Amino acid sequence: MILITGGAGYIGSHLAMALLESGKEIVIFDSLELGHIEIINILKKSGNLKFIQGNLKNLDDIRGAFLVNKIDSVVHFAAYSQVAESVKNPQKYYYNNVYGTLNLLNAMVEFGVNKIVFSSTAATYGEPEYVPIDEKHPQKPINAYGSSKLTVEKIMDDYDRAYGLKSVRLRYFNVAGADSKARIGEWHEPETHLIPNILKADETKTFKMFGDDYDTPDGTCVRDYINVEDLADAHIKALEYLTNGGKTDYFNLGTGNGNSVKEVFDACEKVLGRKVPLEICPRRDGDPAKLVADNTKALEILNWKPQRNLMDSIVSANDWEKRLTKLKAGIVL
Ligand code: UDP
Repeated sequence: MILITGGAGYIGSHLAMALLESGKEIVIFDSLELGHIEIINILKKSGNLKFIQGNLKNLDDIRGAFLVNKIDSVVHFAAYSQVAESVKNPQKYYYNNVYGTLNLLNAMVEFGVNKIVFSSTAATYGEPEYVPIDEKHPQKPINAYGSSKLTVEKIMDDYDRAYGLKSVRLRYFNVAGADSKARIGEWHEPETHLIPNILKADETKTFKMFGDDYDTPDGTCVRDYINVEDLADAHIKALEYLTNGGKTDYFNLGTGNGNSVKEVFDACEKVLGRKVPLEICPRRDGDPAKLVADNTKALEILNWKPQRNLMDSIVSANDWEKRLTKLKAGIVL
């Protein structure tokens, strides 16, 4: 059985859907602080899913999950992930993302589970010294979110040396899109991410573009938007890699292509078939001008290759936005 922490959240639920559809048995462990019970109920329609509501900060909650289920590997998503919030409230980030993960790892050691795939982030690299960023790029995070994830990566190295716990750390770039059948998707309250914010904007809510004076071709930030279903596929490949005896390792997950905020905005207008009200605002703190992945290592070792492009992600995100509106209104499940 595969344990997915944070499986009621955005990325975790897409992995859960993919695993359920391939007939795997999974246990989702989620506090539902940020995840949604509606997502769990939708996932349950696709296969053999067990749900445990619990908090990683309580060791007994997570021990309980191992006690009653025959778990052989873990995929760990549960975390806080807002950069700005992490700068204002590092305590929250270290307590949850580091201490919570320690409880999970300690339970794994106690119950003899030795394989984990971990959601890490491009934020562990900090301000890029060169682009595209490969895995050899120095890791110097510039916010508590990135530091909390890097701390976990270091703990995982120590737990491998001491206890033989094998980990694959997946360093995500900008995750985008939704389930291609629009069953599940991105659902943050409040939403801070670029694509959903453009899609949600209308006459009552102008889209705010944070900075158009960066040192990039059109002055707006360049990011590498990786589709969430492609990302789920990378996790499945990482699990297979560990099951086949792979050593502890880490991989960048991105497409290798950059798109500017303006390009994303124009593509969203095209998909929506309407103009989106736009306001150019000052830069957002902590946004580097350009973040693009060198994904060669994941291609070579995990045999993972993204299949979907930015337009695919925007189309699926837009289909999901429509469904989410109905879901929130209680019109559909
Ligand atoms: N962005 C924006 N307006 C928004 C949200 C994001 O202009 O409402 C910009 C943001 O400044 C960054 C890019 O879009 O340059 C991607 O931001 P997002 O929050 O989606 O992801 P991040 O790069 O922070 O992980």
